[in-house]
Amino acid sequence: MKIKAQIGMVMNLDKCIGCHTCSVTCKNTWTNRSGTEYMYWNNVETKPGIGYPKQWEDQETYRGGWVLKDGQLELRSGGRASRLANIFHNPDQPTMDDYYEPWTYDYEKLTDSPEKKHQPVARSKSTVTGEYMDIEWGPNWEDDLAGAHETGTQDVNMEDIEESIRMEFEDVFMMYLPRICEHCLNPSCVSACPSGAMYKRDEDGIVLVDQEACRAWRFCVSSCPYKKVYFNWKTHKAEKCTLCFPRIEAGMPTICSETCVGRIRYLGILLYDADAVEAAASVADEQDLYESQLSIFLDPHDPEVIAQARHDGIPEDWLEAARRSPVYKMAVDWKIALPLHPEYRTLPMVWYVPPLSPIINRFEGKGSSAHPEDVFPAIDEMRIPIQYLANLLAAGDTKVIRRVLKKMAAMRSYMRTVHVGGQMEPEWLEKVG
Ligand code: SF4
Ligand code: SF4
Repeated sequence: MKIKAQIGMVMNLDKCIGCHTCSVTCKNTWTNRSGTEYMYWNNVETKPGIGYPKQWEDQETYRGGWVLKDGQLELRSGGRASRLANIFHNPDQPTMDDYYEPWTYDYEKLTDSPEKKHQPVARSKSTVTGEYMDIEWGPNWEDDLAGAHETGTQDVNMEDIEESIRMEFEDVFMMYLPRICEHCLNPSCVSACPSGAMYKRDEDGIVLVDQEACRAWRFCVSSCPYKKVYFNWKTHKAEKCTLCFPRIEAGMPTICSETCVGRIRYLGILLYDADAVEAAASVADEQDLYESQLSIFLDPHDPEVIAQARHDGIPEDWLEAARRSPVYKMAVDWKIALPLHPEYRTLPMVWYVPPLSPIINRFEGKGSSAHPEDVFPAIDEMRIPIQYLANLLAAGDTKVIRRVLKKMAAMRSYMRTVHVGGQMEPEWLEKVG
């Protein structure tokens, strides 16, 4: 066994208010340069929505991540030979239309206009060409649509219309999904790069692009299943989230974590068995990928693990950080945080606590000590369908989501009892499983 340290992040989706402060502070810190206008290393998606870039979860079109063939992992975007044969034409990547053409407004016309009866409006113009343009798409465009599109029904049958309205509005649900690079344990971007420019740092697992070595092949862009590598049109180099490594090295959190209004982001160190990574990503059943990734993380309190980690060169302060890691607590110990799309087989390292909200009346109305039997059936009545969350965070396995949501509901009820008063049955939490 070879022990390595990996820095990871947990985001508690119950607490995200969709304010985009994280995106703005990340942009102001890292991508407010020419050539990077369209990039959002951190973005916040309204789900269900097609995301940024458009339809990034469609791996058949973009050919990202890994597939299992005859028990072996293969890049969906093809091996080195097929990539090099394709080198002047790399079709499996988003176009500018899939992101958006970045724009600004013609503020000069607005502010410099002589006073007259009707003042001009600030027209939108491309920040790339400087030409006026009609804006047709941008990040979070579907926020404004919010699922409430026209029914389109020509039928005047009132029952159909009522059902249609119920489907269109009453069943509408939404949630926020903030996304950064996953700093995967098994990164397909690194494997796909013909120049060796993409690399995973040995000491903490942060995935970076060597700007000197990048030769603009952009196979990292196509092979990343999360579409978190971007191409700088000015420097002709790939760029991506660096997990704010200069801040991390100075003992500071990432800028998105520090400025997060909902305080949803937790950073922490995990110890893992580096020799077990490939096997963990290669299990046959996609629904087993979460458990197999979980199994390679090690208990930082175990004396044998600590001894081996020291032997493998992990510094003492990192071991101490691993023992105090909230990521270890939530992802490995409590098992309430889950990896995003584990079926991509890259072993992502940004994990999510699924949202319980909107909190269900079934256990809101039961006083301060709602009983598990009252709470747990209500999990299935949540507005956000369990299957939707399972497809996002558990390769479709609803059992995993139910287990996490029960724990969250139990903890919520427990904390209410502690803070508001009331009777808590001793076996309450044990029933969560
Ligand atoms: Fe690479 Fe990040 Fe994409 Fe993972 S999420 S494949 S580390 S760019
Ligand atoms: Fe969500 Fe925090 Fe970003 Fe606001 S700053 S959108 S709360 S992750």
